[in-house]
Amino acid sequence: MKIRVGYGYDSHRCAEGRRLILGGVEFPGEIGLKGHSDADVLAHAVIDAIFGAAALGNIGSHFPDTDERWRGADSMDLLARAVALVREQGWTIGNLDATVICERPKLAPKIEAIRDQLATVMGGERAAVSVKGKTNEKLDDVGGGLGIIAHAVCLLEQLG
Ligand code: MG
Repeated sequence: MKIRVGYGYDSHRCAEGRRLILGGVEFPGEIGLKGHSDADVLAHAVIDAIFGAAALGNIGSHFPDTDERWRGADSMDLLARAVALVREQGWTIGNLDATVICERPKLAPKIEAIRDQLATVMGGERAAVSVKGKTNEKLDDVGGGLGIIAHAVCLLEQLG
């Protein structure tokens, strides 16, 4: 079996008047993130990990933020498209591990919902989808609550 690992990173600045969506799950009442799409920073890191594993470029090359087609895009739709693209090349998702770094909100109450959402959209099992939240210990701008960062690694597998 052929395996490939991919890594993804994304950051978004906090912005008033925007919804906060992480891994396809909304956090009502929390300050949102600035972005061309729905600014789902976790989904974007996951998409880059998937594209990276298949050496298929990155989120910006497939869904450019200069394209009106992707304005306000649901990042779960972008994720489904990314998964479909690597599937077309014969890959299946092995597992995903992601970390979201922010001072707030606390992710713990919604971690299971996020794992369910990502597993459903990626067409994989929940046991193969790990999401972890942590703070930046008040260090730097992320620690000051000015933005949210996400990292992800994804394994792709191909028989033969
Ligand atoms: Mg992004």
